[in-house]
Amino acid sequence: MIVLNYHELVEAAPSNAWCLTHETFDAHLTLCKNRLISPQSFLERCADPNASRNDAVLLTFDDGFMSDYTHIYAHYVTTGRIPGFMSFIPVDFVGSQGRLSWRMIEELDRGGVAIGSHGMAHVDLTSVSDVELGRELTVSKSMLEDRLGREVTLFAFPYGRFSRRVWDAALRAGYTHLFTIQLGHHRGFETFLYSRLCLTNDMDVEYMRRHLLDPDAMRGFVWRISTKLRLYRQLMHWRCR
Ligand SMILES: [Zn+2]
Repeated sequence: MIVLNYHELVEAAPSNAWCLTHETFDAHLTLCKNRLISPQSFLERCADPNASRNDAVLLTFDDGFMSDYTHIYAHYVTTGRIPGFMSFIPVDFVGSQGRLSWRMIEELDRGGVAIGSHGMAHVDLTSVSDVELGRELTVSKSMLEDRLGREVTLFAFPYGRFSRRVWDAALRAGYTHLFTIQLGHHRGFETFLYSRLCLTNDMDVEYMRRHLLDPDAMRGFVWRISTKLRLYRQLMHWRCR
């Protein structure tokens, strides 16, 4: 399976590289619409080791932007064009300008959107103290769970930055699916890590077409050689110390 990661969607004039126009998003959807699956279906298939080459596509959105609700949910999910998505919330940002409110998050949850944590203050978790790391992971989890009345087991690393210390702490906190920013199919080098393509607005439709055909195509030489030698996991453990 392939996991795509978006941030804010706007009508025109994106304010940063991770912000895409509605038009670009629509063009991406046209390419993968028959392959889209719901978060629930994705999570069920994750348990199946044969699913790694399945060509289904999951949409995820990070940072809790208002467009998750006003655009994706309102225009695509409620009309059945998208079978749901994952939304990763940095809890400190809830209710601030341009971001989701708690009421919207609760409605998304009821409407088939899988809500995950993106920490509290959107900090690079590899650079914070153990105390701060614990707070980012556990307080965001419990605040989301209190609001939604259900267990929250999905987590996306802010900036896609992680280390072994960070993933160990996330697993201890009770998360089961940890989402990174890496090229490739959904299955990461550990069973609890999930790779995603982070879309930036210089990735045109042709880039997306190539990614959907082969998400490994643009991975580098080091990945190729270490995978061939069956040393990729070991190499990543060394890099993630
Ligand atoms: Zn983020």
